Amino acid sequence: MAVTSEAQSSDPLVAVVSGGASGIGAAAVAALTARGVRVAALDLKPDEVAAPAVGIACDVSDDASVRAAVAEVADRFGRIDIVVNNAGIAAQGDITDNDDDEWRRVLDVNVVGMVRLARAALPYLRKSPAAAIVNTCSVFASMGVRRRVLYSASKGAVHSLTLAMAADHVREGIRVNAVAPGAVDTPWIQRVLAKTADPQAERDALNDRHPLGRLARPEEVGDAIAFLATEASGTTGTILAVDGGIHDLRL
Ligand code: NAD
Repeated sequence: MAVTSEAQSSDPLVAVVSGGASGIGAAAVAALTARGVRVAALDLKPDEVAAPAVGIACDVSDDASVRAAVAEVADRFGRIDIVVNNAGIAAQGDITDNDDDEWRRVLDVNVVGMVRLARAALPYLRKSPAAAIVNTCSVFASMGVRRRVLYSASKGAVHSLTLAMAADHVREGIRVNAVAPGAVDTPWIQRVLAKTADPQAERDALNDRHPLGRLARPEEVGDAIAFLATEASGTTGTILAVDGGIHDLRL
């Protein structure tokens, strides 16, 4: 739809959340919905999006797919105020373990995917009285962790992308922030643990590495995303740790 008029501040805000069918994205969808935001979840698995959010098929590695999904949200709701760039994929190993194609694939989803969605939504955000973008980063952006070089590089790029976008768009009234979780108990982590010889022992060790003594709950990260998106009106260019203290604390 054409962006012709200022979005009305009295109407409910509208959010798009990539990767909103599972884990942190699903928790962000729920947290935004609880705050009265109407939410469209853009995902490879739109049928798994929980109502009342609307699931829309979207592959963030495909620009045409992202543009079509954003146009569908705008048609349906008439506005877009919030973008949550959350879809991401894992990668393991050192620099010898992944070839160029895998580097391109992971960076394409984890970094360029965020650019595609924000770029497509930008004309609508510019019309919003309360525009915000929240990117899902990771503590791995700023810690050296063995056998995570590709994933860490992708999240390091998300960290830098967040700051640069915050600078670019602050005078347009668009706030840009990120959350940096430690390990979060989502299907992603459950898949990683299931591949180990002793999943319970691995889980216990992972819990122990976090000063809080446990993995984060998806809802804790979803609430932080919703806070940055809807309430943190004085905050832009911030990377909010939701990591049980693992980045900064030594016990
Ligand atoms: P998840 O696997 O539970 O959910 C990811 C969702 O993204 C799925 O619904 C999947 O279908 C969707 N998705 C994947 N590729 C997509 C694509 N190309 N286009 C559209 N949707 C796509 O994972 P999660 O743990 O909720 O992770 C979400 C985000 O949080 C990721 O960016 C991840 O890097 C980040 N993160 C996770 C953890 C953790 O411990 N779980 C920690 C730090 C950061």
